[in-house]
Amino acid sequence: MNGSSTALDPQTMTSNDIITLCHELGKRFKERAAKHDREGSFPEDDFADLKEAGLLSIMVPKEYGGFGADFVTYTRALEQLAMGCPSTALTYNMHNIAIGSISEVDLEAIPGRHGREMREFRDWIYKEVVEGQKIFASASSEPGIGAHFSKMTTKYEPVDGGYVINGKKSWVSMAGYADYYVVAARPPVVKSDIPPISFLLVESGNPGYEFKFNWDVLGMRSTSTNPMTLTDCFVPKDAMFLASEGLALFKLAREPHWTIGGYIGVYLGIATAAFNFTVEMLKKKKIPGTTMSKSEDPVIQARVGEMYSRLESARSVVYGAAHLIDTRRGTPEANAAIHNSKYIVSELGPWLTSWAIRLCGTTAIAKAFPLERLYRDSRCGGLMPATSDECLTYMGKSAFGADLSKPAETYW
Ligand SMILES: Cc1cc2nc3c(=O)[nH]c(=O)nc-3n(C[C@H](O)[C@H](O)[C@H](O)COP(=O)(O)OP(=O)(O)OC[C@H]3O[C@@H](n4cnc5c(N)ncnc54)[C@H](O)[C@@H]3O)c2cc1C
Repeated sequence: MNGSSTALDPQTMTSNDIITLCHELGKRFKERAAKHDREGSFPEDDFADLKEAGLLSIMVPKEYGGFGADFVTYTRALEQLAMGCPSTALTYNMHNIAIGSISEVDLEAIPGRHGREMREFRDWIYKEVVEGQKIFASASSEPGIGAHFSKMTTKYEPVDGGYVINGKKSWVSMAGYADYYVVAARPPVVKSDIPPISFLLVESGNPGYEFKFNWDVLGMRSTSTNPMTLTDCFVPKDAMFLASEGLALFKLAREPHWTIGGYIGVYLGIATAAFNFTVEMLKKKKIPGTTMSKSEDPVIQARVGEMYSRLESARSVVYGAAHLIDTRRGTPEANAAIHNSKYIVSELGPWLTSWAIRLCGTTAIAKAFPLERLYRDSRCGGLMPATSDECLTYMGKSAFGADLSKPAETYW
């Protein structure tokens, strides 16, 4: 990594080593973040660093050559990266959704031909990531439908040797940069209330898709999140994700952590970066007409104390949810914790960055400082699935005893 990198051996790296490595990378990403934000350019240089560090394999188990991170380590790693560049951390999470959702499943226990095909897919995808350094993107959300999988209209149809996909996706991060797009789609005929949604891999360069590059938005401007149109897009039979048809909604309702959980580390990192910036700036600023630092003003101290309290409370909730994913994945308790942490950290960012601007004053809204960018980036948290209102609804439903492992009880 441009000269100063740590010698990396995923096999021997501990959780702390991974977090430290991401901390160092985050510092480097921070230097480039403002430029990418201003230009709306995808941080290819950050991804070159992630590749060089081998970190595309963070969720690949050690026995397959990856880092084998657990969810706590992963969350804390994302936090460090997001402190440097939120857009990089967010898109990196999109890649890890595909890999992490496979690595946690015990495929050895699945018998017969299906088990064998699933293992073949797993072995192939690990090789693509570890040896090929391939990047995977997620193409789920649709115009007017968002991430509500049960309402998706993109269709796949079996044909000789594979499938043909037709449909539109509204927001695909890493558009034009990923090596594979994981496309959510339904079969042409659906007989049940819970549509059998599947994921299919569309390789970069497939002539059956097209992006319209129009991502010019408030925040997360460097994510290259753009609409995709799939027209008679042929994919081979082995492009069916994990060789499994129709399970997406059931998996999502039972274990929503891969769709929701990565965001908690990203948005915690943004809030932490904003807090750290605020403290440093207030230390330097003087109380008008005095030589005293603003950090000595009791009103400022109380406000910063409140920011600290809410930030550290969110951190406990986020780490707690990540720990439950590692220890009690799929339980009602773990799922409620995921919704709670997603809600808390998504709402914290806009609140904290807004107060940070108020306390630091007009100087702090200059583009020369990261605060106004963190303010804009943090605003995207509550929009991403599950949205803040959905998280609240799920927690309320759960409190009233609803079984959210049933897709029909959710808005997915
Ligand atoms: C930076 C960024 C990157 C993204 N990258 C990707 C990507 O790589 N791949 C991908 O597939 N998608 C991506 N998305 C899209 C994202 O995952 C969501 O699908 C999308 O933002 C939701 O769309 P929407 O706001 O139109 O949705 P909606 O689901 O329509 O939500 C809008 C609002 O509706 C309100 N609401 C209305 N009814 C209800 C109700 N019954 N319960 C709860 N709330 C309700 C809520 O306030 C909610 O905030 C990205 C989005 C952003 C912002």
